[in-house]
Amino acid sequence: MILILLGAPGAGKGTQAERLVTEYGLVQLSTGEMLRSEVKSGSELGQKAKEIMESGQLVPDDLIIKMISVRISQESDAEGIILDGFPRTTEQAKALDIMLKEKDLRINHVIQLEVNEEEIVERLSGRFSCTDCGMGYHEKFSAPANKGICDKCKSTNFTRRSDDSPKTLRNRLSAYKEQTALILPYYSTKGCLKSIDGMAEMDIVFDEIKKVIDGD
Ligand code: ADP
Ligand code: ZN
Repeated sequence: MILILLGAPGAGKGTQAERLVTEYGLVQLSTGEMLRSEVKSGSELGQKAKEIMESGQLVPDDLIIKMISVRISQESDAEGIILDGFPRTTEQAKALDIMLKEKDLRINHVIQLEVNEEEIVERLSGRFSCTDCGMGYHEKFSAPANKGICDKCKSTNFTRRSDDSPKTLRNRLSAYKEQTALILPYYSTKGCLKSIDGMAEMDIVFDEIKKVIDGD
């Protein structure tokens, strides 16, 4: 199964993807996460992507397409793949169609998480994650049960994303509106697009996604 999660920065794609991995045993491919680890490792790709990501713009299509196609090939035996943060441009959406066709795969669902922009700023400015296991948290909405200790792995090390600053966030939102939102009609014409209210509580959003997957 190929599932695409679409939505503005902060819509909750990463959070929902993590839950889907647990529930359905799917593999999550997040281009944002991949790029952050490229930056961390100081690879050639990471060096090219670093400044672009810090400014909140999109990394060039050719780099992204190359990076993700390698991973999709590696995961071709998986139960299913969740694409989180990809595609983000029409060019990427077209390249994905070609990649999948070559592997005899198809997109089962494209799920759009719809959110309100002002609330997104609040969501993103409070988020952080566990440095050791990557578990995502939010100061207000989903803090660890014991302050300062990761629920999942008990680590006490947490990190914040450097691109969650207000200025970069504005750029990320405009990149979404000007480039990524354009692919919504592409998928709605294909008949595989479902929109879900991403402002609802996390559990409700998750239930709605499950309904789409289970075909209810
Ligand atoms: P979010 O969706 O919360 O903004 P991501 O973690 O998905 O964050 O992505 C972080 C940054 O990585 C983006 O702002 C962009 O610079 C880059 N990026 C991630 N995925 C893509 C993509 N498919 N195409 C271009 N740039 C990307
Ligand atoms: Zn942890």
